[in-house]
Amino acid sequence: MDPTPVLILAPLPDFLLEPLRAAHLCHDYFHATDKEALLAEVGGQIRAIVMAGGSVAPVALLERLPKLEIISVFGVGYDGVPVDWCREHGIRVTNTPDVLTEDVADTASALVLMTSRNLIAANRFLHAGAWLKGPFPLAHAVRGKLAGIVGLGRIGKAIAKRLEAHGMRIAYHGRTRQDVTWEFFESLIELAKASDFLIVACPGGGATKHLINAAVLQALGGDGTLINIARGSVVDETALIEALQNGTIRAAGLDVFEDEPRVPEALLRCENAVLLPHLGSGTHETRRAMAALVVDNLAAHVRGKPLLTPVC
Ligand code: NAP
Repeated sequence: MDPTPVLILAPLPDFLLEPLRAAHLCHDYFHATDKEALLAEVGGQIRAIVMAGGSVAPVALLERLPKLEIISVFGVGYDGVPVDWCREHGIRVTNTPDVLTEDVADTASALVLMTSRNLIAANRFLHAGAWLKGPFPLAHAVRGKLAGIVGLGRIGKAIAKRLEAHGMRIAYHGRTRQDVTWEFFESLIELAKASDFLIVACPGGGATKHLINAAVLQALGGDGTLINIARGSVVDETALIEALQNGTIRAAGLDVFEDEPRVPEALLRCENAVLLPHLGSGTHETRRAMAALVVDNLAAHVRGKPLLTPVC
């Protein structure tokens, strides 16, 4: 069988690139200096795309790949893929769910503790020798507090379990009520009002753009903390910066941003924000498991077998 021509749309780790290159004919669109020339040369042959969760496959690009059969996303979020267009054009889409759930939930739960106990500032305090001059200020306990989860999916549920172990109460908002014992809020504003921590774990994309806006932050209130491990697009970053500056909310813990890796100066200056460089699934173990899923999905497709983790 001839190797499948694959277009690589994102910077990928060697442990994914190596097996891909061994099995397929890979063309690196992401690093190509002359992308037009690459498309002119190989666009007509490409049968598969591999991209990352944070990358984008615009329709204008896909239209130039007439033999495209499958897009494999190295990540669970596929908001960068025009899924409806792919469905219409018979292009399959796969992602890497489940294998990253526990690491992302660990990151969310760490952000809850880092923001509530002020651990990053405490670390800086000690490194700066300030402990010799006096004790670190008291922080806030999490036990008994309400964690409102926006998007109670695989990751949202794993976050809820961790936070329950910390003695927190759980409630959630989503488009549908689920068969769980945690309280469901049909209204996001009402959930924000009730929550001490509002934790965003829903998908990104057009449907959730700026779901967390100034009104939601106002409802969360001056004792409230926003945690976002979902996608930067879900939070109106300008409104969030204002809320952090004015004390409309107490703190934020963010793993994702609207224009990664660019983070606004004003947000970098917010002492009440704990900021992580989108590392939710960033462990050796998880990224290798995600890479294996990408490789196995492509292999299944090429062999005409069912996909392991189909989106469509
Ligand atoms: P999932 O199992 O599909 O869960 C998504 C949840 O969001 C579902 O419960 C869904 O419930 C809810 N939802 C969908 N649209 C919504 C809306 N408009 N408003 C409120 N809730 C909505 O996905 P997952 O595996 O948990 O992943 C969730 C997201 O986490 C991914 O899409 C990705 O963007 C992000 N993520 C981030 C990292 C990181 O490194 N920071 C890593 C992995 C994933 P309903 O259908 O009932 O609304």
